[in-house]
Amino acid sequence: MAQIDLKSIIQNMTLEEKVAQLMQLSGNFYYGLAGEITGPFEEMGISEFVVKNSGSVLGVSGADTVRKIQAEHLKTNRHGIPLLFMADIVHGFKTIFPIPLAVGCSWDMELAEKSAEVAASEAAVAGVHVTFAPMVDLVRDPRWGRVLETTGEDSYLNSAFAKAFVRGFQGKDLAVDQMRVAACVKHFAAYGAPEGGRDYNTVNMSERQLRESYLSAYKAALDEGCEMVMTSFNTVDGIPATGNKWLMRDLLRKEWGFDGVLISDWGAVKELIPHGVAGNEAEAARKAILAGVDIEMMTPCYIRSLKNLIESGKVTETLLDEAVLRILKLKEKLGLFENPYRAADAVKEKEVILSESNREVACELAEKSCVLLKNDNVLPLDKQQNIALIGPFAQSSDILGAWSWQGEVDNTANLHEALQALTTNVTVAQGSHVETITDEQVTEAIEAAKAADVIVLAVGEYASMSGEACSRADITLPEAQLHLIKQMKTINKPIAVILFNGRPLDLHGVLDEADAVLEAWYPGTEGASAIANILFGKVNPSGKLTMSFPHTAGQIPVYYNAYNTGRPYDGVSRDHYLSKYLDIPNKPLLPFGFGLSYTNYIYENLRLSSDTMTADEQIQVSVTITNTGNYTGEEIVQLYIRDMTGDVVRPVKELKDFQKVSLNPKETKEIQFQLTEAQLRYYHQDMSFTSDEGLFEIYVGGSSEDVLTGGFTLKKMYTNLND
Ligand code: BGC
Repeated sequence: MAQIDLKSIIQNMTLEEKVAQLMQLSGNFYYGLAGEITGPFEEMGISEFVVKNSGSVLGVSGADTVRKIQAEHLKTNRHGIPLLFMADIVHGFKTIFPIPLAVGCSWDMELAEKSAEVAASEAAVAGVHVTFAPMVDLVRDPRWGRVLETTGEDSYLNSAFAKAFVRGFQGKDLAVDQMRVAACVKHFAAYGAPEGGRDYNTVNMSERQLRESYLSAYKAALDEGCEMVMTSFNTVDGIPATGNKWLMRDLLRKEWGFDGVLISDWGAVKELIPHGVAGNEAEAARKAILAGVDIEMMTPCYIRSLKNLIESGKVTETLLDEAVLRILKLKEKLGLFENPYRAADAVKEKEVILSESNREVACELAEKSCVLLKNDNVLPLDKQQNIALIGPFAQSSDILGAWSWQGEVDNTANLHEALQALTTNVTVAQGSHVETITDEQVTEAIEAAKAADVIVLAVGEYASMSGEACSRADITLPEAQLHLIKQMKTINKPIAVILFNGRPLDLHGVLDEADAVLEAWYPGTEGASAIANILFGKVNPSGKLTMSFPHTAGQIPVYYNAYNTGRPYDGVSRDHYLSKYLDIPNKPLLPFGFGLSYTNYIYENLRLSSDTMTADEQIQVSVTITNTGNYTGEEIVQLYIRDMTGDVVRPVKELKDFQKVSLNPKETKEIQFQLTEAQLRYYHQDMSFTSDEGLFEIYVGGSSEDVLTGGFTLKKMYTNLND
């Protein structure tokens, strides 16, 4: 690759040209199909010059369109600087994979990586260079509409997924592998912890909590080479993230050494004004650039103010030059100076997009993402049984989930079609809409149910009920569907419920009423086939929850790695003054790590290679697992620890490792984990990242609740006995 002298390009650029590199507008508004500029930029006070010289656009795809826009751009850009095309390719481009929360439940890093690779290839041939993914925000509040975009409530698991997604999107070398795209980890930072679960709301937490739980997945993505970071909308310690110097200059850039491009979230620079930390666009621009934001997405603070700010000495030109250099470096890394069209290719689009092999990956991932929440001998179904498939999702293709803007429902089989591909014994009735129900729908559903051996109820949330700005205070199934379930219950036939939703729900009126419940989330393009395969036992479900299901919204936040109080409640004690609710248990309804299978596993014989460990030793933790049922299955074996005598309060459980193991009926296997001192470290009172001498409990099992317990003592050599 020829070396391009980016610094001399920057030297030859005017101030206006440099500022324009920092602007990102939504291409859909600004470009016609022929690549000409058509948009309402004048209304925003943006000159055509700025649009012509801007550094990047968002949301445009399609090989022909991208090629035309790029060609037009290069005709007028006097330095030959290509335009960067960015887009939200979150869980697939046209082949849609399960939503990330579902992918989380697969605990399958290889498949997650593969899904990102497939998504990257489909997007790359359609001209996309950068994806606004992975979203790795840790979540503990299912009222928040965006929990579907993340892999869950655990920092260890989220970090592993962050790495897998980055590897899948970016590959090893973006310049060589043009079928990959640059990744942009988001939303920095702690966007997943808004008060009350209301989107964009204040985030308030200690630095310790931030570092310990919330930051590690962003860091993991960067350690894996993630090229970009996106800011978040929320405040962090009272300062909006997009203007937060400590967060981005001190922590992200200095402490972590991140030297890639930092982009604001949509409009977040200008939002410094309503946040109340900037009086006008110029102040917002100044705060954002001082804090380290390179690209401003969708608002014009930079392009309308930066030049003046620099000329009046309020911002140094060096800051601007550094931002431009980072953007140009990314363009260089993507190979755009040599080939500004990169992989955009209309012929390849036809070959690659929605190919058979891409769909196979989507199907396999959907099969692994479903979580069996209950099964009283109903599943798997028998092909001889007459099935009444009832519910608003029986014939709906609204199963792609948020950020499937390129996914086409026409390419998505619905559950009825998928079942029909495997059996002729299925009748269908709508039963209800998602939020309303009519007497006719009930009558038809009752008739279908009466004539059947088993009722399969396909219920859930519209995809548009979760996602950005889609928080809910009541997270039960909509009343109409609860009514439908009640009506079905009167027929006295076994009921299997299939749930399509983007968040852990309050399962009142569902879990007790149904004989079986399969959490299918939004499973994507091949989701219906995956569910059908599970229902008929072609596939044995193996997914495990990565976010706890609360008893009721009043219990939120409820998550597995919480702290004990000084008055912990064991679930049975009759002592009055304990930390508990009078009306519900402390534990969630369904805990982190939980998920059933068509077979059963017995865990036995937890052994530790030693009951003490010094800092340079490791302990081997082993356990035997037996498949006692009649189906081959894949079990996710989880290893947790608890530090019993921390320097600060430690979580009652922390996931440290896991393994997926496949077992034939009656087969027994021994599983081994190695535990090192490094895995026991955390942030101490003085913020040092170290471990404690003393007792550690070890838990191994098939969920965070169902575990065998052991323990060991960590012995360290202390130099200062007063520590
Ligand atoms: C979202 C981001 C997204 C961006 C661009 C914002 O509203 O918060 O997640 O990447 O829009 O579409």
